[in-house]
Amino acid sequence: MPQRALFIALAERILFSLVIAMDTQLTWYGQSAFKIVTPNGHVLLIDPWLTNPVHDRGKDEVAGLKRVDLILVTHGHSDHVGDAVEIGKKTRAKLVATFDLSAAIVTTLGYPSELADVETTGHIGGTLTLLGGEIAVTFVPAWHGSGVSKEETAPSVYAGNPAGLVIAIRGGPTIYHTGDTDLFSDMALVSRFHKIDIMLVCIGDHFTMGPARAAEAVKLVKARTVIPMHYGTFPILTGTPEAFGRELKQRGAKAELRVMRIGETISLGAG
Ligand SMILES: [Zn+2]
Repeated sequence: MPQRALFIALAERILFSLVIAMDTQLTWYGQSAFKIVTPNGHVLLIDPWLTNPVHDRGKDEVAGLKRVDLILVTHGHSDHVGDAVEIGKKTRAKLVATFDLSAAIVTTLGYPSELADVETTGHIGGTLTLLGGEIAVTFVPAWHGSGVSKEETAPSVYAGNPAGLVIAIRGGPTIYHTGDTDLFSDMALVSRFHKIDIMLVCIGDHFTMGPARAAEAVKLVKARTVIPMHYGTFPILTGTPEAFGRELKQRGAKAELRVMRIGETISLGAG
């Protein structure tokens, strides 16, 4: 019966779109900037430098952001704080950061203080349960700097130690964003507490670990899938996904390498 066939086709389509909608969505904007849309439709930005030199739609993207629930920042450098203040003021997103970094972003850069209260402020080793329990964010160590500067030439303001972020999403993957860091042996501790499905790993060299050291970091974390970041934004960030891929292979890392294009969105199933 044609109506019945139509009904079944329609029902299948609705079911299919529901399944798609339930997947976590991950978008990369270049450098270390990502957007995560959770299965419940919450929107998170990490290190939101959307107007970076390799993302030509940056200004449009910032202008088009209607809903952002949380902005997570790993450390105070401008290529990570990025457009956080503008987006925070516009969307009323809450700032998720360690105590000293949060204070520096509020007092030095003008992030609205009422959006950076104790609920979303923690420190290294601590886990914050947010968005009605849909996500849990754990601050983990990173080896880098973290000063906040109002302008390039202004002296930097103390912002504590830099961090990496482990973001566990209910009904979705657990994502480890390394922030900017070198390889360090305590990265192995991350896997004792979290099964990392997706590791967003800096590979650019010069200011962070390059491909070889990043590949060793992946082995310590035992990540299932790795997505390289923090490369190619400036000529000095010379690490490439190709070199990273070679190092992963040579060093016997079992992780799957997924290289994202700038502006690309991918669907991530549950962990
Ligand atoms: Zn950086």
